Order: sequence, then structure tokens, then C-alpha cells
Amino acid sequence: MIYIEDHWQGLFLKPQQLKKWKKYANSADKKIGAFLQFKPDLAHISSAEHGELEGVPFAVKDNIAVRPFKLTCGSRMLKSLNSPYTATAVKKLQARGGVVVGKTNLDEFGMGSSTENSSLAKTVNPWDLSRVPGGSSGGSAAAVAAGIVPFALGSDTGGSVRQPAAFCGVYGLKPTYGTVSRYGLVAYASSLEVIGVIAKRVDTARMVFSIMHGQDDLDHSSLEYQPLPEVPEHLTVGIPIECSRDLHYDIDKSFKKTKDTLGELGFTVQEISIPSLDYVVSAYYVIATAEASANLARFDGIRFGERAIEADNPEELILLSRSRGLGDEVKLRILLGTYVLRSGFQDQYYLRAQKIRTAIRMDFEKAYSGVDLILMPVYSYPPFKFGGDGLDPFSQKLADIFTCTANLAGIPAMSFPASMENGLPIGMQFLAPPFGEELLFKACSIFEKIFPAPDSPIYSTEWSE
Ligand code: GLN
Repeated sequence: MIYIEDHWQGLFLKPQQLKKWKKYANSADKKIGAFLQFKPDLAHISSAEHGELEGVPFAVKDNIAVRPFKLTCGSRMLKSLNSPYTATAVKKLQARGGVVVGKTNLDEFGMGSSTENSSLAKTVNPWDLSRVPGGSSGGSAAAVAAGIVPFALGSDTGGSVRQPAAFCGVYGLKPTYGTVSRYGLVAYASSLEVIGVIAKRVDTARMVFSIMHGQDDLDHSSLEYQPLPEVPEHLTVGIPIECSRDLHYDIDKSFKKTKDTLGELGFTVQEISIPSLDYVVSAYYVIATAEASANLARFDGIRFGERAIEADNPEELILLSRSRGLGDEVKLRILLGTYVLRSGFQDQYYLRAQKIRTAIRMDFEKAYSGVDLILMPVYSYPPFKFGGDGLDPFSQKLADIFTCTANLAGIPAMSFPASMENGLPIGMQFLAPPFGEELLFKACSIFEKIFPAPDSPIYSTEWSE
């Protein structure tokens, strides 16, 4: 089987080709700003490593540790931090010959849906340079859509792999919680997040996942991947009735078209209900901010990153370092998280959110007794313009409804390019039961045959000719 197009195979073993690719990659990245660090020469070419990825370049979101690159998380706080080690997921890909060529831009610590919350750089959408690439893994999605790399890693806490992939017209896989080690991923909301992959082809995403997954002694929440015993020949897809409300016109149009196309492709399509969907955004933002407030306490100006050396005492040192080092969205979330966890109020917020989380899980369990997969839009809006385009930060959070559902339930989901509307790619997603990744790959591959990821205006393979 061909997992990755020929021009990527063994690229790092062919000096002439490599030179041409570097030139292309540099000029493409000048237009879109996907990378915080693009240094193929830092890569310590793993030429000794043979495997499916021998000499194949890939990019990594800058909240995932890779030595000897930096690990900035898009934050002023960590802008000069050199990564002391390499994440397990990355090590596994390197062991099969993959070569990390750079670190990609993101919303600070993964908090956002547009990559505009990066304190370090601006990334634009390869389809329209006046629009955002989505987020928080916007740099990874833009790099793939521009054809700089065949795949890139991201993290998905509430949609950060699937939403930017949808905005940039490529595939985004959020695996089952725990199947990919989080060792080396800088924690935002630990109970929700997982490392995922953004790719130009379904088979590439599938191969990358097959290499990355597995239990890891360095992450106690990691699990052995136990794929569902069989993938049915004929797939039944459930469409939640709750999904059709409050969609932007273009998303609604694409959602309807996708349903029709699935029917024509031989899927059985039927309506289902996920009643708890109304509560997921509230539950997600309570849990995510509560965990973030605890996880980000470690950035105190003492152990990591920027330190306010002029401070007279430790308290002032922490206050000054955090005030200067962290961006507004991060501060907002730390405050929200502290608020929902304050003593005496946990029942009202955090515990209630956990109950909703259980209800969501049960709604999905029930739904999967009748269908193999569920289809949902990825985001309620198409790729928007910088500055929000009428979509303020609060509305951006409300639009996370379809993605953060999978994180609360811990289930796998994959976004795929479903159609083009007004010159912009629109993504839909399949959700599967736990360990149902093969169902996602199968359904996405069937759709890919009639609608492969379209090439963005920046995308080119001329360097390989
Ligand atoms: N947009 C969501 C948030 O801001 C998703 C983030 C993510 O998955 N890292 O929390």
C-alpha cells in the first residue's frame, strides 16, 4: 500500500531533491508563517533508522517536546526554552525514519481556535491569506495544506487538531484518549487531550497513528490500543438532530451535501439524538479551565522560562514573571479555572461539569448501539478573517460545540475535507466508539475517493520534478 506520495519517500536521502524542497518550503512558509522554527538542518537525520517513514519530513506543534528544538508553546514565557527531551510519540516516528524539520505555531498553550492567541507569530490560511488557519494547531494544518510536509503533529484538547485541519482543507485525527502517550506534551487540560495527526491523505494519517499509539510507562494514563474486533463491510452513520441548529449557511449547506453523498456512496444514514449536546460547551470550559489553572501554575518564572530578575522577593518575582510572560487569553482561563475551583463552589461548577461529562458518554454509548459512526460538522463557521470577522472570542468558544464533545467522551474522531464553499474548504467529522479508529479511516477513505483533499493555492509539488 502507498501511504505517502512518492515525492516524500526518502527525501532526506536525496541531496538534490532536498535542496529544492528546502527552497520551496522556505518560500511557502514566508507567505503563511506556519513555523516558529524551521530548521531541517537541526534534524539530526535519522538515516540509520529504516522504516515506513525513512527520510520523510514532518512538523511538530510547538507544545510537543523535540530535542534539540525549542519548546515555546507560543508563549512569551517560554520563548527561549530549549526542549530538554523528546516526546514519546515523536520518538516513535523518528525510530521509523521520520525527520522533524521544525516546530509549528499555535494559540498560546493550545488555548484558542484561530492561532491568533500566539504571542510569537502570525500564521495565515493557505487558502486565503486574509483568513485564520484555525487553531490551536494552526501552524501544523497550514504547513500540511501548503505542501511543506506530508503530515504534522498537533494536540487536541477540544478540537485543536480537527478544526484547523478543516479550515485548511486537510485531514485531522483525534485518537481515543490515552492511546497516544502524552509524555512530552505540555499539559493544558490533561483529562481531555491527546496528540493527533494532520495529513494530506487518509492513509498517511493512518500509518502515523499506527506508529504512534501504544502504552507508555512515562504516561500513566496511556493505554494499549485494542482495535475493535471487526470493521463492518457496510457502515451505518448516525446524524444527531441537534447538529443542524445555529450553523452558518455554508456549513449547513456542506453538512446536507455530505449526508446526501454518504447515502449515494452506500452508507446507511439515519437520524439519532445526543440530548446532552446542549451542555457540552459549558462543561468543557469548566473542566478545561479548571485543569489549566492547575497545570499552568508551574510557569512561575523560577523553574522555566522568563524571569523578572529585578524583583525584590519571590512573590514579586512570580507576579511580574506571570503578568509579563502570559497572554490575555491564558490569564482569562487561569482566572476562570480558579473561580470554578474556589472552595465551597466546586459542587456548583466542577462536579456538575463532571456529571454532564458522564451524561455525554452515556448518550454516545446509547447511540453506538444502533450506528457504527456519527457525522457532525467540525465548526459552526467557515474559516474567518483575522480579528474575528464578527466572531468574538466568546462566539468562537460556543462554536467549539461539535469538537469538544469527542474530548469529553474520550472517543476518537476524524475531520475530513467535505466540500468547497465560496472558495474555502469546509470540513465535517466522523466520530467512532472508543478504539474505533479503523472505522474512521475506512469511512474517510471512501469519501476521499470522490473528494480528495483539494490543493490550496500555495500547494505545489514542482520542487520534486
Ligand atoms: N478551541 C478550544 C479551546 O480553546 C480547543 C483547544 C484545543 O484543543 N487545544 O480550548
